[in-house]
Amino acid sequence: MNRSTTSKVKSTSRTPPVDVRRRLRAEVGFGCPLCGSPHLEYHHFNPTWAEQKHHDQQGMIALCAEHHAAADSGAFTNDQLKSLKRPNHTFVQSSFQRRRKHTVFVCGGNYAYQCDSMLRVAGIDLIYFEKDEFGYDTLSLNIYDVCMNRIFEMRMNDWLARINVDDIETPPAARTLLFKSAIHRVNVKIEFKDRKMLNPEDNNISTEFGIPADEDVVFCFFTGDIPAPVPVKFNNSNIQVGSMIVGGSRMAGCGVGVQVN
Ligand SMILES: [Zn+2]
Repeated sequence: MNRSTTSKVKSTSRTPPVDVRRRLRAEVGFGCPLCGSPHLEYHHFNPTWAEQKHHDQQGMIALCAEHHAAADSGAFTNDQLKSLKRPNHTFVQSSFQRRRKHTVFVCGGNYAYQCDSMLRVAGIDLIYFEKDEFGYDTLSLNIYDVCMNRIFEMRMNDWLARINVDDIETPPAARTLLFKSAIHRVNVKIEFKDRKMLNPEDNNISTEFGIPADEDVVFCFFTGDIPAPVPVKFNNSNIQVGSMIVGGSRMAGCGVGVQVN
């Protein structure tokens, strides 16, 4: 067998390197080629991991946990797996399951609790919050590319993303989501953290908001860059819109955090 040079990589970790994982996700259009789930794992089939510890992209495929288990049990031939190494969909979708009565949304270092919207530009809510039918907080997003095509949208924690991008990464735990496209100038990261994962400062902020220490809370962190309708940068400490910088604010029960007309 004529194997590529990447097969020579010596590795003892079953988790492939970052660049291999990204290429494996990209080749299947960031979704399991059998069911479309974006929550991907990495299957070694030629050779198998037991036969040789390798991270050769040619002999690997990204699959969801269910189809990874099926592949491990021998459900598919190597030829079938090889033929599955391509996208069979034009978008991927999933949902964040962490719904709580107390959710603190942290957007570019600004903390919002029981608010309606974090960012409204030209009358369009780009980042906003709603209660679901059970009274749990949810996140909604409208992310546009430079041509004002919506390439990522989330409504009440259910999201849908176009796949003509550089990367979509959301491991099976479905606690984080990375969505990146240099050509569209979009780079978004969403991360949910339960109380036990919070640092002391964030725990204090939940107390500032009056959230009882014995009740469940989840923090949802949003960072990244979006290009339209106006370029906005969210880093860990502030939101930058043109020359305006908003950082470190605590918003409770407010309407709109940042509004650009
Ligand atoms: Zn699948």
